[in-house]
Amino acid sequence: MGPNLVAGFWARVSWSPRRAAPETPRFATQGHTSAVSAASAGRHLQGVAVSFGAPDTLVSDGGIHLLLAGEIYNRDEVAKALGNASAAHGSDATLVLAAWHHWGITAFRILNGRFAALLLDGGGRVVVATDHAGSVPLWLRADAHGVDVSTEAKTLAGLPGTPLDVAGAQLLPGGTGVHRVQAGTALILETVQGEVRTANRVYTWTPPVSRAAVGEEIAVGRVRRLLAQAVQTRLRDDPEPTVVLSGGIDSSGVAAHAVAHSGLVHSVSMGTEASDEFGPAKVVAGHLGTDHSEMTIHSSDLVRELPWAVWAAEIADHTILEYLLPLIALYRRLPPGPRRVLTGYGADIPLGGMHRHTEPLDLLDSVIAHDMATFDGLNEMSPVISGVAGIWSTHPYWDRDLLDCLISLDPGLKRRYGRDKWVLREALARMLPAETLSRPKLGIHEGSGTSSAWTALLLEKGVPPGRVEQCKAAMARRMHDLIVLRTRHPDEISFDEVLAATEKGRTRHALEQ
Ligand code: AMP
Ligand code: MG
Repeated sequence: MGPNLVAGFWARVSWSPRRAAPETPRFATQGHTSAVSAASAGRHLQGVAVSFGAPDTLVSDGGIHLLLAGEIYNRDEVAKALGNASAAHGSDATLVLAAWHHWGITAFRILNGRFAALLLDGGGRVVVATDHAGSVPLWLRADAHGVDVSTEAKTLAGLPGTPLDVAGAQLLPGGTGVHRVQAGTALILETVQGEVRTANRVYTWTPPVSRAAVGEEIAVGRVRRLLAQAVQTRLRDDPEPTVVLSGGIDSSGVAAHAVAHSGLVHSVSMGTEASDEFGPAKVVAGHLGTDHSEMTIHSSDLVRELPWAVWAAEIADHTILEYLLPLIALYRRLPPGPRRVLTGYGADIPLGGMHRHTEPLDLLDSVIAHDMATFDGLNEMSPVISGVAGIWSTHPYWDRDLLDCLISLDPGLKRRYGRDKWVLREALARMLPAETLSRPKLGIHEGSGTSSAWTALLLEKGVPPGRVEQCKAAMARRMHDLIVLRTRHPDEISFDEVLAATEKGRTRHALEQ
């Protein structure tokens, strides 16, 4: 039971043995760690994989070595295209290696998955690749003797050696030399004596900007079929998957399809003493027959999870951190043990769910295009969010094929007859209770009262109302600096100290002006 996969890794590929291997990297992801090593064309790969279950870690074939974190969802399709149906029965890493042999770098344009990959090819070149959405963040740092690659930036931030620029990857501010591999990108790095060169940058996916004006029936049928497939492939035959259920249309749709393909589905809803969505979630759970539970977390405890959210998401954006808080808090309070979680995260982005008050359709479509052009780097869907609790999570609405379909639908199918996310609601029409189908969207931070909790705490501490947003932003930046760039553990970081330091820094700054 439960996931069987590599959830993250760190590895160094070096061409000079000068740097001693660092101590075991401190991942936020809680799995079991195992060492990996390989050599090819005078390059040495040494690293650590952090896993759930007992998966293949490093796979090798013909002098090519691959470290794959995450999983592939179009396994059957890929195996068929390879002309090797049995390839669908091996590990995902083996399948990706076979795809590499067949297509080379183009393999990453064919894979539909939630993954990050590091490959050392027969010529000693280093290939790093993310999935279409960069949903497993991937970071790297180069120096004169090698390249360190990791699924967690914090494991690279404190490394010795003068960092070098890596063309084609995005440098993280803060002077640590850590770069992020962008969503839907594969980079080929050549490691020539004392130099790292980007030999090629290949884009493997970009959000479509064209739109399909199809009839209602076709659109609804397509969404229904692709959602069913996205959920089914993410269940990976887990006999007891869990759905984090708000009772909104997105997570309820995932739960409905999970129930259709799985013996026993657990569902769990969280709320705070200030607010919850327990009623609507219970209606869905009762209708579908899931094993449902509720969890109430005090909002002041929720806010104190902030350092954990920073540790997991490795971002400094306070708005996104606020969205992630309730989920992190929920994951950390689930009973321990192997667990595969499906969420309804992200449906609103291609469907414009957050923009239900944006009136003209062309404007709705513009904000959708904008949101799809700016998601990269927010790390909202990082597996580390649940990985801090030893849990694997995956997000069906960001399945590549479903996402392509949702983005490219005529906006008039997204808002129709005065209803937001109309096409999704129709696609789920026979699977959910009427009241769920017509329930308006509530963001996770609204439903659980998280934003008000952070705000309330700041007001209570004397931050003037007009400066709350600014204070949140400064606190988030400071936490990112301490936890990601200076690799402190979240338990060592107190909300109150960060607030005090932020306010002190501001006063000093104001006096100097
Ligand atoms: P939302 O911001 O509502 O779109 O939330 C994103 C996803 O997080 C949902 O689709 C659910 O899977 C999950 N989620 C949101 N709110 C809750 C909640 N109160 N309890 C459990 N899961 C939730
Ligand atoms: Mg919701």
